[in-house]
Amino acid sequence: MIPYSEIAAELKRRGVKKAALQFPEGLKRFAPELVSVLRKEGITSIISGDPCWGACDLSLDAASDADILVHIGHTPVTDEKNVIYIPYRKDIDCAVLEKAAAVLKKYESVSLTTTIQHSHQTEELAEKLRSLGVNAVVGAGSKRTPEPGQVLGCTYASAKNADCAANLFVGTGVFHAIGVSLATKKPTYALDPYGCGDLQEVSADPLLRKRFVQIEKAKKAKSFGILLSSKPGQQRKELAERLASLHGNAAVILIKEISEMQLRNLGFDAYVNTACPRLALDDQSRFPCPLLSPAEFEIVLGLRAWEDYEIDEIV
Ligand code: SF4
Repeated sequence: MIPYSEIAAELKRRGVKKAALQFPEGLKRFAPELVSVLRKEGITSIISGDPCWGACDLSLDAASDADILVHIGHTPVTDEKNVIYIPYRKDIDCAVLEKAAAVLKKYESVSLTTTIQHSHQTEELAEKLRSLGVNAVVGAGSKRTPEPGQVLGCTYASAKNADCAANLFVGTGVFHAIGVSLATKKPTYALDPYGCGDLQEVSADPLLRKRFVQIEKAKKAKSFGILLSSKPGQQRKELAERLASLHGNAAVILIKEISEMQLRNLGFDAYVNTACPRLALDDQSRFPCPLLSPAEFEIVLGLRAWEDYEIDEIV
């Protein structure tokens, strides 16, 4: 849940008179309650109503009209000052690991990863697995994922740092588990913490087949738009400029929200995405033409072999 009173106490301690509040899409409904708690403490608020999917997209415009930005839901990915990060946490009952342990015991070591909602519990979950006979390892995080075992759709450093024979991702959906599998090239399992405890071994093959189709389509493209995000935590200018230099008819496009309409209006035959890596992998069906990752663009240009396919990560 949102720790309303702790946030109010911290803002009072810092002498904040006006706070900018930013919530990701799934948590925006908590805004009225936080505003009301802060008002009782004499703190006024301005809410960022724009879409937000991560700490890569801090609402610095709302913050410019306030003493501080309170970003709910995530840990930091950039060094922006005057921002308080309040991760959103949901506890897991460790008993959900019991069935999984029977399968995972056969591996010499198993990395444990999860998302920010549960990464406060990684050591507790790993300890439970160890008590069930699994050699569970929690890898160190990275600048974008400061908590051990934490992963993001743009960074799987903790799974790679653990360097285990297999991986267990605990969380809902399989997107992150497939990311762990691609990043480590090791057997990877997903466990829904709110399900019945059944493990799902994930395969990146269906995704790779779809990406292969897009790469083949892009080989016919005569022009490439290289998308450079204007969001502070997604901006990879050097990479975008390097990619643009690889093709005679490529141009860098500075863009904030990447939508089907924007790509259609811009009129390039294909695009290369240096913004959030999830866009190309998760959202391709929304777009009118191939949206390639940097490594996929190199494959299209013959500069990289398909066998050397790599998932795009922001480091
Ligand atoms: Fe999440 Fe994408 Fe931002 Fe990474 S770049 S934090 S995956 S929204």
